[in-house]
Amino acid sequence: MKRFLCLFFLLFVFGNLMAQQTEYVDFMSVKADLRFDSEAKQVSGVAIYKFKILKKTDSVYLDVRNTIDHYEIHDSNFRTRHNYHNNRLVLNFTDKLVKDSIYEFKLIYFSYPKKAIYFVDDQIWTQGQGKYTSNWLPSIDDVNDKIEFDLTVSYDSDYEVVANGELVNKEFSDGYTKWYYDMKKPMSSYLAALAIGKYDKKTAISKSGIPLVYYYYPKDSLKVEPTYRYTKQMFDFLEEEIGFAYPWQNYKQIPVKDFLYSGMENTSLTIFSDSFVVDSTAFNDKNYITVNAHELAHQWFGNLVTAKSGEHHWLQEGFATYYALLAERHIFGDDHYYWQLFENAQELIAQEKAGQSTSLLDPKSTSATFYKKGAWALHVLREQVGDQAFKTAVKAYLEKYQFSNVETDDFVSEVETASGQDLTAFVNDWLLEVKLPEDAMVTSLEQSAFMQEYFMVDCEVFTSKCTEYVSSNISDKAKVKVISQIPDRIHTDTFLNGLEVRQAIARYVDKIPLNLKSEYESLLNDESYATVEVALYNLWVNFPEERSKYLQKTKDIIGFNDYNVKLLWMALHLNTPEYQSQQKLKVLNELIGYSLPEHHFELRMNAFNYLKLLGGFEIESMKSLIQATKHHNWRFAKFAKTLLAELESDLNYKILIDKLKTD
Ligand SMILES: [Zn+2]
Repeated sequence: MKRFLCLFFLLFVFGNLMAQQTEYVDFMSVKADLRFDSEAKQVSGVAIYKFKILKKTDSVYLDVRNTIDHYEIHDSNFRTRHNYHNNRLVLNFTDKLVKDSIYEFKLIYFSYPKKAIYFVDDQIWTQGQGKYTSNWLPSIDDVNDKIEFDLTVSYDSDYEVVANGELVNKEFSDGYTKWYYDMKKPMSSYLAALAIGKYDKKTAISKSGIPLVYYYYPKDSLKVEPTYRYTKQMFDFLEEEIGFAYPWQNYKQIPVKDFLYSGMENTSLTIFSDSFVVDSTAFNDKNYITVNAHELAHQWFGNLVTAKSGEHHWLQEGFATYYALLAERHIFGDDHYYWQLFENAQELIAQEKAGQSTSLLDPKSTSATFYKKGAWALHVLREQVGDQAFKTAVKAYLEKYQFSNVETDDFVSEVETASGQDLTAFVNDWLLEVKLPEDAMVTSLEQSAFMQEYFMVDCEVFTSKCTEYVSSNISDKAKVKVISQIPDRIHTDTFLNGLEVRQAIARYVDKIPLNLKSEYESLLNDESYATVEVALYNLWVNFPEERSKYLQKTKDIIGFNDYNVKLLWMALHLNTPEYQSQQKLKVLNELIGYSLPEHHFELRMNAFNYLKLLGGFEIESMKSLIQATKHHNWRFAKFAKTLLAELESDLNYKILIDKLKTD
């Protein structure tokens, strides 16, 4: 325990030292010329740093998180001694540095970063937030020093290279292309990014003339429209709603394999998980819209104005979540908006019951608090002060603090000025208080007639009316609620409903009455891979004599990126002796194949789960599972460790695992 405390203390002191450099030095720009060796996972760079002296000092440092294997400093106008220690490159000046003067130095380095840049198959991409850009590009980790990053990258001409800002030049030589990207404005270093891979692209132009670039894998040309659906509408809406023009030169979005999160809002370059690349059927169940809107909103809230410290993190996540809700409201309407608020409220209430509620200004808050309580706070604040004052305040806040850093008070005082209201009560209830203002949330939700109806329709209270509900005019969400409560009382008419209600039938009605058999079979035709997966399984269980028929009907469906329908189909195939009896070994081998490292981690997770169910692990899949325990994606690595530990309780598997681990 004591050791822990000491470590804490050190971190605290270290953190303070970090915050101080911004008081006497302002790093203005970094021009970095980068090369990558993807085999060796090596980065080499020549970077020119320009900085201005704000206060008298005799040393300046750069953060260099990863061990630099080699570096040299070339300075032009002054003499320095430099040393590299504790992830810092410190320049001690023997010449006097003059206040308000600007200096430059050049750093030549190469290194083998362990994180923040990832070499995944033939892709290279970065993730700065939470990982530190200084792992691959020596810079300033403190978010309070905003720097203009101009990246130049040389790479194999068969690949596309994307970085922050605008592509201003491309030079070809000898199979290599040099890509020159240029930024015009400064940003915190966690937003510096690049992505390299084999991509095609499509470009749309926003109402205000900003290029919106959609990258995609060459094989996915048919998925571009459903994946990026509504992007331009949301962009145009947010520019108008926020009242401050989009602050960067262009907006690029690029999917990558096995990404660490859903998406990351690097300035003018959002990188997102390729599991959001969907066809028009998968779009119905799982699409990119919310993440798309969220990362876009960050281009203002987070990138243009950046929270000074973790205490004010909600100024980024709460705002991005709230403005994403507004963008979705613009497209899908009020009912959708209130439904999202309701779902967020349920999550926050569950968190409160589990004893995990915190003040919104607690830097250790959960994501649910930063994102969802933050969005709720803004929703309620706007209700209180009115649309006009809210919009005036947001615009003034962005204008005043553009390209700099903010605290919660900076925002609150703009709202007080615009509205003429004293916001002490709001600040107490929503920002400082740990306990959720549940009553205020319910009152707000009840302003929606749609939510009122949803609360009223309740088969656990009004049992007699229930059978009529599902064929009445109530909303689909309310019908789903009814079906979840009385799955044994649905009738043929219930199937006449739309996609969402039919999905609820598949999900909740697992004992299929004979009189509903043919309607239930029609669920296999629905434009929803979630519905097809559950319906196939339930039909296979309920009607054993028809198993071959159901398998034959669904044999060509793949499903989501984790192949949800295809893998279920294979597992059922292996358990249906009469169906394609000569193909069993081939099917099992195909399933094993999906667990191997060349596949997307979500597909591998799904394949591992089925192999466990079927007792189908062998040398290749087990090797792949052991390797997955070291995967860069934390969620996948944790999954693999847990599954491996479970498998070790089986003696046969344990012998195999021990052997492979020692090999
Ligand atoms: Zn975010």
